[in-house]
Order: sequence, then C-alpha cells, then structure tokens
Amino acid sequence: MADIVLDKVSKVFPDGTTAVRAVDLHIVDGEFVILVGPSGCGKSTTLNMIAGLEDISSGELRIGGERMNERAPRDRDIAMVFQSYALYPNMTVRDNIAFPLKLAKFNKETINSKVLEAARSLELTDLLDRRPAGLSGGQRQRVAMGRAIVRSPKAFLMDEPLSNLDAKLRVHMRTQVARLQNRLGTTTVYVTHDQTEAMTLGDRVVVMRGGNVQQVGEPQVLYDHPANLFVAGFIGSPSMNFITADIEDARLRTALGDIPLDVRLIARLRHLDAPRRLIVGLRPEHFEDAALAAGEGIVFEAQVDVVESMGSDKYVYFTLEEPRVSSAVLDEIAVDSGADSLGGPTATLVTRFSAESTVREG
Ligand code: ATP
Repeated sequence: MADIVLDKVSKVFPDGTTAVRAVDLHIVDGEFVILVGPSGCGKSTTLNMIAGLEDISSGELRIGGERMNERAPRDRDIAMVFQSYALYPNMTVRDNIAFPLKLAKFNKETINSKVLEAARSLELTDLLDRRPAGLSGGQRQRVAMGRAIVRSPKAFLMDEPLSNLDAKLRVHMRTQVARLQNRLGTTTVYVTHDQTEAMTLGDRVVVMRGGNVQQVGEPQVLYDHPANLFVAGFIGSPSMNFITADIEDARLRTALGDIPLDVRLIARLRHLDAPRRLIVGLRPEHFEDAALAAGEGIVFEAQVDVVESMGSDKYVYFTLEEPRVSSAVLDEIAVDSGADSLGGPTATLVTRFSAESTVREG
C-alpha cells in the first residue's frame, strides 16, 4: 500500500511565513490527486514536504503507513518530475533515464531492459542516443517522465510538469500523463495552477488558498457543488458569474430579474440563518440567446462589451452589476448594435436558474 497521509501538516519558513496550515489529506493507493490554487497558495511547499525537500514544521506525513517526517528524500521511494525537467545535459536520453537505476545499483541487463521498456511506453525509442539539447520541450518532458517511472517508485510527485510547453503540446502531454498514470496505477500527486489540468487529470482535486485546503473532491463535485465562493470562482472557465440577490416577499430580487423562491430553493436556503442578502452563482454555460432558448428562464437585456468567437462557442462578456463583468458561453448570439435605452450594443439573454445554482450567504 502506498497511500499518502498528511495529518495536520504545517510549514512555517524561518522568516515566519506560514505557507501551509494544518493540512489533512488522505491520498489512497493508486489515486491521482491534483493540488490546485493560485500562486503562493502553498501547493509546491506541500509537495516538497511529501518529497522531503522541505522539512515539516508540525504534523505528520505517512507513506504506506510509515512516518516519513525525518526520512531523507532518497529513502522515501518516490520520484519527482519538475517543470524544469532537471535532465543532465551531458548525458544521453538513455543515460538520463538509466540514472536512478544506476544509483540503485541494478545490474546492466536489468537497467537496459527497464530503460527500453520506459522508452517504448513514452515513444522515446528513436531518441535514446540524443542529448537533451537536441530534444523539443515535449520530448524532454517525456525523458523526465521516463526517469521517474523507470524505478517503479511508490509514488510520483509532479510540480507543474507541463507548464513550459506550448498550448497544443500541453493538451497532448496531458492525455499522455493521464494514460501513463492509468496504466501504471501509481499513486500520484500533481501540482498545477491550471484548473483545466485539475479538472481533466485528477481522480480528486484539492483546492488550496493561503496555505489552507478549501475543498477536496472529484472534479465534477467541485464544479457542481463548490464549498464556497472561492472554489466556485476558481473552478470553471470562464469563471462563474456572481450576482447579489435580496430576499423580499418570497422572491430573490437580482439585477437579472426576480426569481421566485420555490420549494426546492427554500429547502436549499434552510440551513442559512434567515439571510436577507445572498450571492447567486450562475455558470456561463447556463445562459442562452433568448430567441433560441427552449424552455423557461429569466429573460434580461444585457449590455454587450465583447463577443469572442471560439469556433463552436461564443464567449459573451457583458455588464450586469457594476463593476463586475459577467460572461456567458453561447452557441449563437444576436447582438443589436443600434442605439437604445442602454446606449450600446445589447443582446437579449435568458438564464435558467435552478435550486442547483450556487446560493451563498452574502
Ligand atoms: P506557485 O504556483 O507560484 O509556485 P505555490 O502555490 O506553489 O505557488 P508555494 O511555492 O508553496 O506556493 O509558496 C507558498 C508561500 O510560501 C508563498 O507565500 C511563498 O512566498 C512562501 N515561501 C515559499 N518558499 C519560501 C521560503 N523559502 N521562505 C519564505 N517563504 C517562502
């Protein structure tokens, strides 16, 4: 069993900065877990404490049931993949991949067969005699992966491994990493600030902010049931729209129009203590052009700032409640550019509001 347990793990740097605050996390054997959050939230520090590259200030780290706090990185049986690849420039691809096996004093034959197997699985066979300088970014990253998998470690720790790659290669490598992890079934902790990577790669996602864990869950659960406004706004692209709503006469009054407080909505609000003002979250994809919309919803006129065509979708940015800009992802939109009461191009949109829409106390 190579589960990883963080039990109230904290990190305080010598200058007094608290980077990680009493994080509790149980990563089960074989699981692919993503640490995600904005810059400085403590993702890398958490990963480095698991790796042994940073001391743990308080709390306990266990891998496979054994306390690791005092154990040196090389004795933890884990492999790290960094954003910078950290390849040896004077060594060939073959020697780079073989390096951890040589350190572990495997015999030549075993090394050779393990290197060939790793190279085959990462499509590096034809590049084994090249040096890193003669490789593309994606190829270098695959060599770094090769070096990590060749030793069959208990766990992989990856710190933004794809962030030096261009957008297209990044998507390609993302699927490769997912496939590799799936095939090997090795416990993996992966740090990223990219919420698309978080949503697509992980069995579970840990959202961090200011050294604290905000929510841990399967990607779809975070998307559909964010625990707080931070997670709601962080997960999803374009971000969720937030509008304020005042409760008056059994209705929610919003800048979009009134939303009747139906039975399901009342049930959802019950745990809140007689709130007067709420924040309602609406995902951009929960809007449509009113002329094309099927079914019911709240119809409103919006002042359109920008329409970005993404090919199959259109991202529409509009002003709802100053100064916040809101966004909608639509199949199609009819913009009326003529002068009107709002003094600019407008569109008539409809949004479906349901009890599932995030509702939080304001
Ligand atoms: P990024 O995505 O920018 O890499 P991160 O979420 O990985 O960010 P960390 O690198 O873990 O964040 O840093 C967490 C906090 O700890 C930050 O406020 C950072 O400034 C601080 N920090 C990191 N290393 C040190 C250090 N050696 N001494 C003092 N503070 C540090």
